[in-house]
Amino acid sequence: MKVARFHAPGDIRVEDAAEPEPGPGDVKIRVRNCSTCGTDVKIFRFGHHHIRPPRVMGHEIAGEVVATGADVTGWAPGDRVQVIAAIPCGRCEECRRGHLTVCPDQESMGYHYDGGFAEYTVVPAKVLAVDGLNRIPDGVGFAEASVAEPLACVLNGQELARVGDGDDVVVIGAGPIGCLHVRLARSRGAARVFLADINAERLEMSAGRVRPDAAITGPDLVEQVLKLTDGRGADVVVTAAASGAAQEQALRMAARQGRISFFGGLPKDDPVIACDSNLVHYRELTIVGANGSSPAHNARALRLIASGAVPVADLITHRLPLDGVLDAIDTVARGAAIKVTIEP
Ligand SMILES: [Zn+2]
Ligand SMILES: [Zn+2]
Repeated sequence: MKVARFHAPGDIRVEDAAEPEPGPGDVKIRVRNCSTCGTDVKIFRFGHHHIRPPRVMGHEIAGEVVATGADVTGWAPGDRVQVIAAIPCGRCEECRRGHLTVCPDQESMGYHYDGGFAEYTVVPAKVLAVDGLNRIPDGVGFAEASVAEPLACVLNGQELARVGDGDDVVVIGAGPIGCLHVRLARSRGAARVFLADINAERLEMSAGRVRPDAAITGPDLVEQVLKLTDGRGADVVVTAAASGAAQEQALRMAARQGRISFFGGLPKDDPVIACDSNLVHYRELTIVGANGSSPAHNARALRLIASGAVPVADLITHRLPLDGVLDAIDTVARGAAIKVTIEP
């Protein structure tokens, strides 16, 4: 079979590999869609400390069960499934307390295990042990189902930031994650959702699909948000961009008792921002992080897609075969697409 393997930074090869066979407790799937995201670009450029090459990449996986290992019950060939990306251990203190997204022993598909840029992949027993294999509801395509993983991360972020009824929400960063934030905020009852990006072209492309109440760009985002909200600021500000400047702006555009989600991480060599602590103090602001998603978030994300509460089909702008994986990563890197999916 064909796979796309990471060998070293700048060196991803589409090559032949033996079909993997499921061990006890594993499930083998025929990958139908594995979507790409900014993380794939980061891995391509810099590698990742959890990836020991060579490794088949790809962590937004949907496919069809073709074989099950010994001791697997409840799954059969032909079942349509979506796979979690982050695998909590299920046993540590954080997992026992229900804090699965911050499990310190977390492993990931495409990092510790071969991922979905392949015709076939094996879902490890560890994934099944934490309920990380989800049945795709009828009417949901494989490509849409593959977007359940990033949507699950967005859902975790908005739960932590308590996005809800009547909120004015600003999303900074108009990539695929920003688009999902806009759609999810609407489904959670937000009053108005504003989408911002420094790249006017990308903003226009994404705004055309998700139709925010306003699309804003330029150096004076804070002033624009204050103007749009009659000086009050936004109840929730989500930074879906790897930008310390965006995080600093987010703090200044939040309303009293506002919540700020630092959804996107910052570059490892430049993670320090300036924070006016008195803003946080007097305005009773809450700053939250977001680290991936739990298996339960994945299951709920899939239901949000299936019910139509968060449509994703129109966000998938590019479909490429496995051979096109480098083009896909380049397209994501240039911000020229919303969601790019690989169909191995
Ligand atoms: Zn991803
Ligand atoms: Zn754990």
